[in-house]
Amino acid sequence: MIPKRMENSMSKDVLMYQVDAGDTIVCVSDNWASFAEENNWAGEIQPNDVVGHTLWRFIQNEETRHLYQILFKRTREGNPSRPVTFRCDSPGERRFLELKIEALAEKQIKLTSRVVRTESRPEVNLLNSKSSRSTSFITICSMCKKIKTAPGKWVEIEEGLEQLKIFEAEDIPQLTHGLCEACFKESMQEIERYRSLTPPGVIAS
Ligand SMILES: [Zn+2]
Repeated sequence: MIPKRMENSMSKDVLMYQVDAGDTIVCVSDNWASFAEENNWAGEIQPNDVVGHTLWRFIQNEETRHLYQILFKRTREGNPSRPVTFRCDSPGERRFLELKIEALAEKQIKLTSRVVRTESRPEVNLLNSKSSRSTSFITICSMCKKIKTAPGKWVEIEEGLEQLKIFEAEDIPQLTHGLCEACFKESMQEIERYRSLTPPGVIAS
């Protein structure tokens, strides 16, 4: 399938994509490839790979998926949500993004990811998809990109690697995605806000 491209007259820091009523990605903005590269998705997700697929395939964490599904439902019912803030770090940059969710005709949804600010840092191998990995795993928060160092303890990647004494390239663990307690709480509050707006009986499961 040849992807349908959206004109993006805005900055390179803005990525737009659109899903149909069934949450299948129908088009992506023409800067998808460069945005993907800056976010270290290169080699993994190309425009041809995303258009025609369900969006949920690209959101690895179940709780995050659940939150977005509720926000989509709310948006389609005419109750727009606040932009969702999240991190989309590359190895050499902390990237602070926000996602705007807007309803279009026929229950389609337009998603606009905007890079709000970035901070450069020495490259962290943990986020380099080309790094070779050990057999151990480390959990990274899907929303804020902190890593779990102990039960209930989530810290910035650099701090976490130091605490866990992971220095050598060959020690780099594999990543699994989760949601830290703070982001989970925030998601739940957003869901509660939705429930309070919705009459009983029509609450999303
Ligand atoms: Zn988090």
